[in-house]
Amino acid sequence: MNQSASCGACAFFDHARAEQAAHDGLCRFNPPVSQPAPDAHGLWPVVSEKDWCGHFETETPRGLTAAE
Ligand code: SF4
Repeated sequence: MNQSASCGACAFFDHARAEQAAHDGLCRFNPPVSQPAPDAHGLWPVVSEKDWCGHFETETPRGLTAAE
């Protein structure tokens, strides 16, 4: 696999979460999945920088970015 097509280089990879390992991030390609209880948050998939999938993109549609 081409290293540049990994999650760490993907526009949908969201790095900065203190509770995650240094090389992990959230994949923002799809909405959150599996809401364990009505008052719980949905879960974003955690992926590693070296993971990859067929939805890799260098830019998000319309330049969307994560809220701060
Ligand atoms: S799982 Fe796919 S869409 Fe999500 S960050 Fe990795 S390459 Fe991008």
